[in-house]
Amino acid sequence: MSATPSASAAATPPMHAILAQPWDLICIGGGMAGLCASNRAWQLGLRALILEAGVEDIYACNTRRSGGAIHCCMADITDPEEKILERIERDTAGAARPDLALAIARDGRRAVQWLRAEGAQFIRVGLTGQNHVLAPPRPARPGWNWEGRGPDVLVRRLGTNLLRRGGHIVRGARVTELLMRDGVCVGVVAQWQGDSYRLAARAVMVADGGFQANADLMRRFISPAPDKVQARNAQTGRGDGFRMVEAVGGHFVGHESGFYGHIMARESFDDPRLSPYPFVDTLACAGMVVSHDGNRFTDEGRGGTFVANEMARGDDPTDAVVIFDQAIWDGPGTKKALPPNPIFPLSGGRVIMASSIPELAAKARIHPERLAATVEAFNAHVRDGRGDTLAVPRTVKKIPAFPLLHPPFGAILACPGITYTMGGIAIDGHARVLNEADLPIPGLYAAGAATGGLDGGPYSGYVGGLSKAATFGLRGAEHACASISGAVASQAVGAV
Ligand SMILES: Cc1cc2nc3c(=O)[nH]c(=O)nc-3n(C[C@H](O)[C@H](O)[C@H](O)COP(=O)(O)OP(=O)(O)OC[C@H]3O[C@@H](n4cnc5c(N)ncnc54)[C@H](O)[C@@H]3O)c2cc1C
Repeated sequence: MSATPSASAAATPPMHAILAQPWDLICIGGGMAGLCASNRAWQLGLRALILEAGVEDIYACNTRRSGGAIHCCMADITDPEEKILERIERDTAGAARPDLALAIARDGRRAVQWLRAEGAQFIRVGLTGQNHVLAPPRPARPGWNWEGRGPDVLVRRLGTNLLRRGGHIVRGARVTELLMRDGVCVGVVAQWQGDSYRLAARAVMVADGGFQANADLMRRFISPAPDKVQARNAQTGRGDGFRMVEAVGGHFVGHESGFYGHIMARESFDDPRLSPYPFVDTLACAGMVVSHDGNRFTDEGRGGTFVANEMARGDDPTDAVVIFDQAIWDGPGTKKALPPNPIFPLSGGRVIMASSIPELAAKARIHPERLAATVEAFNAHVRDGRGDTLAVPRTVKKIPAFPLLHPPFGAILACPGITYTMGGIAIDGHARVLNEADLPIPGLYAAGAATGGLDGGPYSGYVGGLSKAATFGLRGAEHACASISGAVASQAVGAV
């Protein structure tokens, strides 16, 4: 195995020396998925390397900027297997691939244990499902507050562990192509300091974090107007992995899955205090969401991520106004971490208040008669428990509906905010990339937010970003070991 600079030169000797070594596993991306895979590979006797597009020492990635809660469907990842399978089935409406769901149910707990052994520290934050939050936790403040917090500390720690084991994170190395020989993935092409390098490896793992920063793929799978979807993410998932995998016969799964995200203030495009937190899901999902024509267009009872996806699918994703009353503001509006009441106005968010629905319509530029009719119909149906018979149904199985009765009424001009894309590269339970015939492409793995088939489904069910990245990072490395070396195989498979 060798690394051959296609244009000689500018590589500094130490880096060139790194690139010239033989590698068993190359991970594309140094977030949770790539870091777990590469460290696990070294534990199992393989030589693993991370090629990371970010240049900075503290390079950006979603993992570093996350809230650090390792969960499954917002509940405890260490719950018994059957419970976890039930939750995934429920939240994805059966859309999750059974082998992927089983992998999380079996190995989510093991991923937490493995991370702990690598030096991760967890605390319980006291909310449902927040039993394993990377410590120190992010402060309950709006805006980006990630530096020195649990997920950032973990990324640094796993990077140090990799170095200690003999591996490297080559920063500034953006992978642009997968090398194939006779249908087997045998390496990658990476761009580094202006040169193109071919690196051979016995296995490659795509762990590039999804495509939320790729306008073309966003248009293809998420929204006709990606510039009107707020990026509450690190903007490092550029879809390179999916593009490369598609070029060698892999394919996309989860067309309807959309993205994990939230309902945010429209002003968040201009005001950094309003992204990635606070979001206003609790107000929207207890009350209602209308477009400026005064009509509801989505089932608020399906939750914030579902509503945000429905907003994104519209011709104008920012044509959405969250409507609520005093009872919602004082009730559901005060629940959850960083609740809109009082955090949203304190962060500079604009709450339009009015003593009547017609006055609210005028202030928020919503069609007045239509809004009045929409509220009246909504209230009548909700009062009689017939929300599901509305023209646009309002289900109550997941989130109760509140009639809008108690003035003053409130409105927030909204937009969808994307955290990460939930559809992606098709993989199996061992993180092997699958072709259109559902058969593994030898030597090629993918993990984390680059992959599809677990999260999503018709109601955009969120299973878990970090648990998915860690579990499939570990599983992919273990399978790569098993297929590269029979001796390692028994050890690796035994651990799964
Ligand atoms: C604000 C926020 C809060 C979140 N909170 C939570 C939470 O509490 N719990 C939870 O489970 N999930 C949470 N998530 C989601 C979670 O962070 C992600 O799902 C997870 O970190 C994905 O890990 P990953 O390794 O797949 O991708 P990433 O962490 O994004 O890493 C991908 C890496 O690949 C690199 N890369 C991209 N393209 C290339 C290329 N061509 N060549 C080389 N390198 C490349 C990128 O630079 C990046 O460093 C949150 C995300 C955000 C943004």
